[in-house]
Amino acid sequence: MEKILIIANWKMNPQTLEQAMQIFDSIEDEAKNIKNVKVVISAPFVYLPKLAEKQSEIELCGQDCHWEKKGAYTGEISAEMLKNIGCEYVILGHSERRTYFNETDAIIEKKLKAGIDAKLKPILCIGETEEQKKLGKTSVILISELTRTLQQLVVDHMIIAYEPIWAIGTGKACNPEIAKKNLDIIRTALTNLKVKTSSVLYGGSINQKNAKDFIKAGFDGLLVGKSSLNSQEFNHILKLFA
Ligand code: PEP
Repeated sequence: MEKILIIANWKMNPQTLEQAMQIFDSIEDEAKNIKNVKVVISAPFVYLPKLAEKQSEIELCGQDCHWEKKGAYTGEISAEMLKNIGCEYVILGHSERRTYFNETDAIIEKKLKAGIDAKLKPILCIGETEEQKKLGKTSVILISELTRTLQQLVVDHMIIAYEPIWAIGTGKACNPEIAKKNLDIIRTALTNLKVKTSSVLYGGSINQKNAKDFIKAGFDGLLVGKSSLNSQEFNHILKLFA
């Protein structure tokens, strides 16, 4: 059986390396005992080298990367740099990057290509806004985000995180039955795009009370924001799958 993939997205937290190491160590202590789950931590760039030194079974993930390999792009990090520092994964197209940094599907497509070329496993985030949900446009948005970012790429395995934007950081997770319908839409779109195999994760206000519902609904894993910064809460989520 494929392991459940649980990815901690720390975003721009915590504020010190010491705190980052403490959260990491606490999660690692628990993760060692949970054989059915692959745990991945997406930490701020500056903490990744120290976390990589730990040689843990927890895999590391960047929160973004540039589309070029190197060059005059002040402030940016390339996919190759992430790979060289010990990352296996990179999150791309997170709604916070789309919203605050104006990332378009065209930019995300270039970043996906860079990630794949660097032999990272990209996690492509897609999801609808509250407004789009109300207007009944969810399926159109999901299919369009997938098509615009993936149609030119040759990918065997793709990891998608379905993250309804209105559910991120709000404490209001998606109803698992509705999430399941959207999961089916995503899987069909991936088949139409000739993506051979995929893992589809759910993200948006996951906690220990609702985490299991999304795996039962058929998701292959979870992308966890706020609850991943509290190691006790995150470890409770891991224990659900022991
Ligand atoms: C996220 O930002 O990817 C996320 C899922 O955040 P949260 O769990 O805090 O809603």
